[in-house]
Amino acid sequence: MRRHNVATVLRQVHVHGAVSRAELTSVTGLSRSTIMALVASLVQARLVAEDVPDRRTGAGRPSHVVRPRPESAYVLGASVDVAWVRVAAVGLGGAVLARHDYRLGEERARPASVAGRLARALGRLAAEVPDGARAVGVGVGVPGVVRRADGHVELAPNLGWRDAPFGALLAERLDPAVPLRVANDGDVGAVAEHVRGAGREVRSMVYLAGGVGVGGGVVVDGAMLHGTAGYAGEVGHMVVNPDGRPCRCGSVGCLETEIGEEALLRAAGRRPDGGGEALAEVLAAAAAGETRARDGVARVAHWLARGVATLVNVLNPELVVLGGPLGGIFLAAEDLVRRDVARFALDPSWPRTRLELPVLGGDSVLLGAAELAFDGLLGDPLGAVRTGFPAPGAALSSAATSAGPWPG
Ligand SMILES: [Zn+2]
Repeated sequence: MRRHNVATVLRQVHVHGAVSRAELTSVTGLSRSTIMALVASLVQARLVAEDVPDRRTGAGRPSHVVRPRPESAYVLGASVDVAWVRVAAVGLGGAVLARHDYRLGEERARPASVAGRLARALGRLAAEVPDGARAVGVGVGVPGVVRRADGHVELAPNLGWRDAPFGALLAERLDPAVPLRVANDGDVGAVAEHVRGAGREVRSMVYLAGGVGVGGGVVVDGAMLHGTAGYAGEVGHMVVNPDGRPCRCGSVGCLETEIGEEALLRAAGRRPDGGGEALAEVLAAAAAGETRARDGVARVAHWLARGVATLVNVLNPELVVLGGPLGGIFLAAEDLVRRDVARFALDPSWPRTRLELPVLGGDSVLLGAAELAFDGLLGDPLGAVRTGFPAPGAALSSAATSAGPWPG
């Protein structure tokens, strides 16, 4: 019971930032003396600090303000994409303490190479956080079907991975005292937007993001939808066009083949392998009135609407967040998307769904991976501190001891 209450208080402070003891009392329904004792134990564990406001507002004693201590406990988050890897050190409370992005080249096809370079990048980041800060977790989002227990990547079509022990490859390069979590990128993107982004007050939502691949994550009644093995939410592989193109997953006509980056480039008469720069060029050309670009955007917008309509019908979400290039396509053809969703979605459901862009922009997956890494600490704060994370200043990994230039 006490463990649960300590966890509740720390999560409140982590998600909402500085809150008064009075607010904690009203939000948790616990007594003032219980909150005081719980906060005292978190202060002793160096996870939160308490400030006494120096100015009295209104009558009565001012309530102590409890705030997270990002300089005391932090996580390392990473987002692995087809072309980019982004890493960040994120303090308790959500502040980004340090970050770095690097390009992923041909080595993307070799899980061991990706793990090696990522471990070096994480080690380098760990050297940049404030002195005295302790790493309490590492979280990584990858574009694939991931076994959550050990980060084994069953399938990552756009990296060319199948049956890749990515979690193990990364774990052997990191300090075993720091818990490592690897998860699907769409799932962690959904977590970030749910906790800190567009879906903060929302109970049911879908996060849909598309670059080369199209992934997503689903929150139902306040909880992530995992499915029987944790593989739920692969919205990019809903078959929408049986007469469509082969998908890298082995199927035909998946949503990804109709709304992914390559689909837009092809529909706009560009080379399908042009990447993010080519995609931005198509959106700019469409905005400037170029017919082929506009037709391409319209075609993709139509298929995007079909996909969204199916999600609306099956999941009845309050919110669908369109991340990555899908957000750009939505902005470029919003009327078209809304018109076609209205055509294909059930009348009672669609008016209750909002379509929005991610509040966290391109960082949803990175920050969601960081949130995942906080799970251990937030689930049992005092237990996690007792069993011990690396001492302040300890190197996160052997790679961290050679703090040379950034890899890549
Ligand atoms: Zn597919």
